[in-house]
Amino acid sequence: MSERVALVTGSTSGIGLAIAHKFAQMNYHVALNSFEPADAWTTLVAELDGLGSGEVAYFQADLSDGAASRALAEQAIARFGRIDVLVNNAGIQKVAPIEEFPEDDWQRIVSVSLDSAFHAIRTSLPGMTERGWGRIINIASAHGLRASPFKSAYVATKHAVVGLTKTVALEAAEKGVTVNAICPGYVWTPLVAKQVADQARVHGLSEEDVIRQVILAPQPTKQFVQPGEIAEMAAYLCSDWARSITGSTISIDGGWTAK
Ligand code: NAD
Repeated sequence: MSERVALVTGSTSGIGLAIAHKFAQMNYHVALNSFEPADAWTTLVAELDGLGSGEVAYFQADLSDGAASRALAEQAIARFGRIDVLVNNAGIQKVAPIEEFPEDDWQRIVSVSLDSAFHAIRTSLPGMTERGWGRIINIASAHGLRASPFKSAYVATKHAVVGLTKTVALEAAEKGVTVNAICPGYVWTPLVAKQVADQARVHGLSEEDVIRQVILAPQPTKQFVQPGEIAEMAAYLCSDWARSITGSTISIDGGWTAK
């Protein structure tokens, strides 16, 4: 269906990029986003634009800013006429004990992952319900279902994203719109690579030992999830076969939450 329009927040890297790539291959029009200026992403936009018959466009919006968050979905609607599929993916991490947790990092994590999802859903849901079809996919985390030490803001935010998912799913249940949270375990992306050094510091381990003993410790398969695995699930959730999946948390975590 080449006329479908998807907005994927935080889609220049990692999981968001894999989802945007998949949607472009599915001939969707795709709105890409990150906080960086458009010049940084000319090559990426051209590459994705060439994958299918849909158009790919980039929208700069720093989702730690409420006004920019509100404007992002409005701009995507202005460009493509509507949003059929919204993927709230942007997210950041900070690893520190609660007593030392910087207040601005706390606020930034909550704003980027939770507040921005609220603003994007609030703006895009009315059009979806009016047309009787829509998909909202929130990229939560295994940390939306389980806790780990030193990640208070991230764990609290991801649990809240799961709560938001369930609530909106109930509100939209009779309107052809499904709302789900994908809860990945550890996926090898820049977000994880960046926390290796921080984890090494707080745990007093080498970076190599942190990967084996800390990062992959809760993941029984002892393998990183690949971004493409999340993208394939997002594509499935957009299919008509997934119309009865709503309000769900879908774990892709190598068995982490089986424990
Ligand atoms: P990543 O760092 O590779 O990519 C994050 C994306 O978000 C980038 O495109 C970045 O530009 C964008 N972004 C960051 N701050 C932003 C801001 N203020 N405004 C707009 N865009 C911003 O991260 P990732 O690992 O692909 O993570 C994507 C999502 O998946 C996050 O919500 C993360 O919490 C979640 N997740 C990741 C893992 C993992 O192991 N990598 C596991 C579970 C959940």
